[in-house]
Amino acid sequence: MPTIAENIAQIEKGLKQETCLVAVTKTKPEEVLLKAYNAGCKRFGENKVQEMTSKYEALPKDIEWHMIGHLQTNKVKYMAPYVALVHSVDSFKLLKEIDKEAKKNNRVIDCLLQIFIAREETKFGLSEEEAVEILTSAALPELQNIRIAGLMGMASNTDDEQAVRAEFRGLKALFESFKQYQNEQVNMRELSMGMSADYAIAMEEGSTLVRVGSAIFGSR
Ligand SMILES: *Cc1c(COP(=O)(O)O)cnc(C)c1O
Repeated sequence: MPTIAENIAQIEKGLKQETCLVAVTKTKPEEVLLKAYNAGCKRFGENKVQEMTSKYEALPKDIEWHMIGHLQTNKVKYMAPYVALVHSVDSFKLLKEIDKEAKKNNRVIDCLLQIFIAREETKFGLSEEEAVEILTSAALPELQNIRIAGLMGMASNTDDEQAVRAEFRGLKALFESFKQYQNEQVNMRELSMGMSADYAIAMEEGSTLVRVGSAIFGSR
């Protein structure tokens, strides 16, 4: 079986220059994260605030922590001092809470709007209309301690490559069209799409951040 370092090297080798790897480390113990860290990977994605925070406290401080999971507003305060990018913003209320906690920490926190692109009913995310509502909200300029830095999406969990590609292509088109809302709060530069099963397709369709877990750490 290839090692974690070999898996990371293999994935990195296949990435375009404009696509960065976020190693998804949720449920993995700290010693496993350290193996990835020692292999040169310093961008980690977690889906639970408490778990991410205890890892943040235990591990080297030059790691970038990415929140990729569904968020409850009452957990935002724990990650506000250090989180690098929140991929999973799916309401204005959450954005407001992140702004409030970022302000307390004297920071500006970059956020992505999570867009619903899959056929499945179960995945979180905003519709195009809901995203536009946030981007054009009269209250957005008051949120001086957040920036909307792009979009995130998860494709359907299917072997139908054409369907997955079409979903990513649709998200990329939305990302490009949302550049019309560019202002002090909005700067569409990161497009977070692609996981172990579909990151190669996502990269071809213009992803700037791929979130890869099992292809690095195994699926147990
Ligand atoms: C777990 C997870 C991933 C990584 O999934 P793999 O299939 O293990 O690569 C990516 N994005 C999100 C939002 C996740 O929860």
